[in-house]
Amino acid sequence: MTEPDPAADPLEEARARYREERAKRLRTDGLDQFQQLRGEFAEFDRDPFADPDFTRDPVERDVDVVIVGAGFAGMLTAARLRERGVEDFLILDKAGDFGGTWYWNRYPGCMCDVESYTYLPLLEETGYMPSMKYAGAAEIFAYCQVIGKHFDLYPRALFQTIVDTATWDDDAARWVVHTSRGDVLHARFLVTAGGILSKAKLPGIPGIEDFQGDTFHTSRWDYGVTGGGPTEEMDRLGDKRVGIIGTGATSVQVVPQLARAAREVFVFQRTPSAVGVRDNGPTDEAWFRSLEPGWQAERIRNFTEAVTGKHPDRNLVADGWTEVMWDDTQSAGATPEEAEALERSDFDTMEAIRRRVDEVVEDPTTAEALKPWYGKHCKRVCFHDEYLPAFNEPHVHLVDTQGRGVERVTADGVVVDGVEYPLDVLIFASGFEVTTDLDQRLGFDPVGRGGVSMSGRWHDGAHTLHGVLSAEFPNMCMISIVQAGFGTNFLHFLSESAGHVSWLISTCLQDDIRTIEATPEAEEAWHAVLISEAVKIADYSINCTPGYYNSEQGNNPKARRNLTYTGSLVDYVDHLERWREQPGFPGARVVHDGS
Ligand code: NDP
Repeated sequence: MTEPDPAADPLEEARARYREERAKRLRTDGLDQFQQLRGEFAEFDRDPFADPDFTRDPVERDVDVVIVGAGFAGMLTAARLRERGVEDFLILDKAGDFGGTWYWNRYPGCMCDVESYTYLPLLEETGYMPSMKYAGAAEIFAYCQVIGKHFDLYPRALFQTIVDTATWDDDAARWVVHTSRGDVLHARFLVTAGGILSKAKLPGIPGIEDFQGDTFHTSRWDYGVTGGGPTEEMDRLGDKRVGIIGTGATSVQVVPQLARAAREVFVFQRTPSAVGVRDNGPTDEAWFRSLEPGWQAERIRNFTEAVTGKHPDRNLVADGWTEVMWDDTQSAGATPEEAEALERSDFDTMEAIRRRVDEVVEDPTTAEALKPWYGKHCKRVCFHDEYLPAFNEPHVHLVDTQGRGVERVTADGVVVDGVEYPLDVLIFASGFEVTTDLDQRLGFDPVGRGGVSMSGRWHDGAHTLHGVLSAEFPNMCMISIVQAGFGTNFLHFLSESAGHVSWLISTCLQDDIRTIEATPEAEEAWHAVLISEAVKIADYSINCTPGYYNSEQGNNPKARRNLTYTGSLVDYVDHLERWREQPGFPGARVVHDGS
């Protein structure tokens, strides 16, 4: 049999190229290639925004609910609890205010990459109108404070406070939470809302600790070094050579700003991002004011349907996301013909993205290096109108590492392929932990019944019902993507989870339920659902270039259990809804007060 001639069919040619590029990027150390912000890098995790001299007296309270995390998940849970009449709760966060991601990420150019009208929660409740289709980070952070005030959450918030331990007291049926400020909180329910991309990571590049210039991670942007601010131009880089490691969604937003401000910019690339058209613009106020009550929930669901292959009759958002993700091409086709049609659709979408690079980037070698050679579901697609043009500036240099990553960091700069690039400032746009153990990302290891820790019971990976309840951890509700939904619009997932958790807690309080937890049998049944979804996309995923979507293609022994629900988020939401509609909390072990 003769091998097909790749030149004869662009799809065949692309298949070969995808394999080739993936092979360059494969490595054996998986998630271990990254390091945490510890030891000499602890300074990278310091809060540059909060008052370092802040003190307060320790709090001792017995409350209905302690919520850990004051980002959108925590705020939404709190808002929904209040709507359901649950008033007795506290929200804890190590940050100095509400906001989560939007508290920490203040890098220049930061904005939501999903349309504001579907991304910003509670717009109907607060009456707030986002100024732009894709709002900037400063506005979103300010909006978090609007939510905090609207729902009167500030009096219930303990900021600059880190949970040290959370331990279940079975006799009292309470979680006992100790914090870094000496608080001792007793709570009937514990909600862990620690964020999805909240724990920054650094690459384990040899010599990374040697760099003598200024250096920081994008999630703790150091305006002391760069000058300017989230909404002001940076004014201290005019004579500086700035390097940035990473070309993911964050870097795509940062690079155009660096290009504007710095003498020279070096962008160190391992895998290029797919960058589609953004087309941002101000909100049409007349349109916004004309929206009928209930519009936001409908729009949010419609967007998720549109980007998960559900082909809704109307495409309400109609932006780059819905265009690129309209067909879900990850699932194995029912027939070889269907499989090829899906592959071709994916290829056509990515070809359009690659063509855009040629149209925008003038230097052919740079353009070639900026083209993504992988399927559209392999990495989060980016949308930006200034990133690619930045590479036409003579002082902006793409340093392509051919999938291998930066070779070494020295006292003076960064080495790739034996060439040292001297730098004054080195910025890490190296992302966040996503699929590491939940207790590692939470920063504390909950201790359930009988002294069993989460890391102990989950030694082989997560055990949950819907990602929310877990056996031996009574009255603990988790909001995280571990064994739970995931989707393009994180806020859709967080809103649904927060709604679910607040319903669960308020129902238990009303019905005098003392404890609720998953049964191990229900956990296994849910795990089977997760696996049945995961196998549908297994072939696609394995052929992807490594990244955080597929745990870097590493050999993680817990990967079989630390899954997300890989079907459409609307189907995950339907699972939760169906569960709530059934009487008696199926799959949960429930103990009533006095029983
Ligand atoms: P990512 O994990 O997407 O990107 C990290 C980057 O660092 C990648 O380009 C990665 O390369 C690179 N990298 C890692 N190690 C090395 C190395 N040794 N040498 C060279 N490069 C290296 O993180 P981001 O912060 O960009 O984005 C994370 C997520 O945050 C996004 O996917 C998105 O979900 C969210 N986000 C949302 C935004 C919004 O809504 N406003 C904006 C920004 C982020 P490689 O690809 O090869 O692994």
